[in-house]
Amino acid sequence: MSELPYAADTSYPDPDTLGAIPAVMTATYCEHCGRSQQKVSHGQCQRERGGEAPTYCTSCRRELDVTVDGDRWSAVCKKHGQTTGTLER
Ligand SMILES: [Zn+2]
Ligand SMILES: [Zn+2]
Repeated sequence: MSELPYAADTSYPDPDTLGAIPAVMTATYCEHCGRSQQKVSHGQCQRERGGEAPTYCTSCRRELDVTVDGDRWSAVCKKHGQTTGTLER
């Protein structure tokens, strides 16, 4: 049995979890560019976005319906509902 890979060997895909989405990973997509948070660095996105409202839902990548009222923004995802924030100026 010594030829079996250890569970700690991350290069070996676990057939039980392969393709499954871990429940703890809720913020999966970049709110600015919509790309995966895991695959690319989004430091540039954070700088570009500044204090503006997000463009994409971080959970499902849907484009958000953004409304700005004064210095407040609200972004609505059809699936995940509304998030609100304050514009930084
Ligand atoms: Zn990004
Ligand atoms: Zn969503």
